[in-house]
Amino acid sequence: MKKIIATILIITASFYIPNGATAQKTILIKCGKLLDTKGGKVLENQFVVLKGNTVVSISNTASKADSTIDLSGYFVMPGLIDAHTHVLLQGDITSEDYDVQVLKESIPYRTLRASKSAEKSILNGFTTIRDLGTEGAGFADVDVKKAINKGVITGPRMQVATLAMNTTGHYPLKASDYAWELKFPKGVIEITGADEARKAVRQQIEQGADWIKIYADRGYYRLADGSFRSLPNFTTEEITAIGDETLRSRKKLAAHAMTRDGILAAINAGAISIEHGSGMDEECMKLMAEKGIYWCPTLFVNEYVAEGRAKLGSPINLYFQQSIEATFKKAIKMGVKLTYGTDIGGYDWNLPQAADFTYFVKWGLTPIQAIQTATTTAAELLGMQGKLGEIKEGAFADIIALKKDPTKDINALQNIDWVMKDGKVYKN
Ligand SMILES: [Zn+2]
Repeated sequence: MKKIIATILIITASFYIPNGATAQKTILIKCGKLLDTKGGKVLENQFVVLKGNTVVSISNTASKADSTIDLSGYFVMPGLIDAHTHVLLQGDITSEDYDVQVLKESIPYRTLRASKSAEKSILNGFTTIRDLGTEGAGFADVDVKKAINKGVITGPRMQVATLAMNTTGHYPLKASDYAWELKFPKGVIEITGADEARKAVRQQIEQGADWIKIYADRGYYRLADGSFRSLPNFTTEEITAIGDETLRSRKKLAAHAMTRDGILAAINAGAISIEHGSGMDEECMKLMAEKGIYWCPTLFVNEYVAEGRAKLGSPINLYFQQSIEATFKKAIKMGVKLTYGTDIGGYDWNLPQAADFTYFVKWGLTPIQAIQTATTTAAELLGMQGKLGEIKEGAFADIIALKKDPTKDINALQNIDWVMKDGKVYKN
C-alpha cells in the first residue's frame, strides 16, 4: 500500500517538476525590440531576466543567467489577453450550427474539442483568456482550466464564467421548430425570481466560476431613426439580486448586452464589462466612461455571422455592421475603456484570434493603443494588473515574440512565432 502511495506521489509530483525545476533557474532573453505596454513605447536591445515563472529584471545590459534565449531578431511583447472566448464552442453562424453542438455532441466530446481550442489560443499568442460561458457544457470550463493548470493539457491562463445566466424561456435552442413537448438542454441556467437568481450565482461560484455572466437583453431591433432597442431579460429584482450576490462574493459580473435596454440595467446591477454592446447609444457611453466600465466590442464575430444570419431572415447583425464603425469612434472619443475580446468559439477557432486589432487600428487607435486593450487594460479587467499584460519586474513570464513589428503593421499579430507562458516555451 505504501509503495502505491509513493508511486502516486511521484507521478503527481512529476507534473510539477518542470515548473518547480525552472523556479530555481534563471533565463536571459535577448530582445531585439521590446514593447513597453505601460509606457506605450518600443525599446531596443533589451535583456529580460526570468526566474522560474517570473520576470526579475529588464535592462540594456546582459547579465549572467543559467540559460539564454536569443530573440535579438524579434519583436518581443507580453502575452496577449482575450477577454471574451468560448473554448466549448466551435463556431455557429446559423441556429443549426449551434444546435448541432448542443444536441449532438456530448459534454465529454465538447470538452475534448475545448482542449484543442485552448491549445490554439496559446499558440495564437493569447496566453490568458476570460472564457464567458460553456453554452450547455456545464462546468467543463473549470475542468479545462484545471487540466491546464496541472499541466495535463496545453493552454492559456483562464478565468471562467461556467453556466452563464438568463431568465426562463429566453435562451432556447436557436432553431425554433422543435416539438414543444420535448425537453431540450439549455445553453445557460435559466432563473425566475430573485431567489433563483441568488441560488444560481451561488451554485456557479461553488463550482469554480471566477465571473458571473448574464445575458441582459434579447430581441434586438432597429428604430426608424437608426437607433437600437431590445427586450431586457431580467426584472430589476432579479438582476439586482445577481449583482448583489456576485459582488458580495467578491466576484465580477460580465453582461452580454446589445442596446441601452440591457446595458443600463446591467451597469446598474454592478456589471463591470459590457459584451458586444453593438447597439449602444450616447447615454450608455457616458455612463460607461464615468463608471470605468469596460467595453468588449467583439467586432470580427459580428461581421462573420452577419451575412449568414441575414440570409436566414435575421438581418440585425447586418444592421449593427452598418453602424458599428461610428459607434466605436464615438465611444472612444467619449472615453469608454476598451478591452480586447473576440467571442472566438462564436466563430471558428481556426480563424484569426487577432482579427479585432485590425478594426481597432482601422477605426482610429494607434497600434500600441490597440495592443494595450489586450495587455494592460485587459489585465486590469481581470484584476491582474502588474502581473499580466506587461513585461516588468514581478510580472508572470508570459511573453511572445514575432518577426514583424506590430506597431508598424497590426496584422502581424496574426502570426506569433514564439510563445512563453509561466517561463515555459510553448511555441518555438
Ligand atoms: Zn460570447
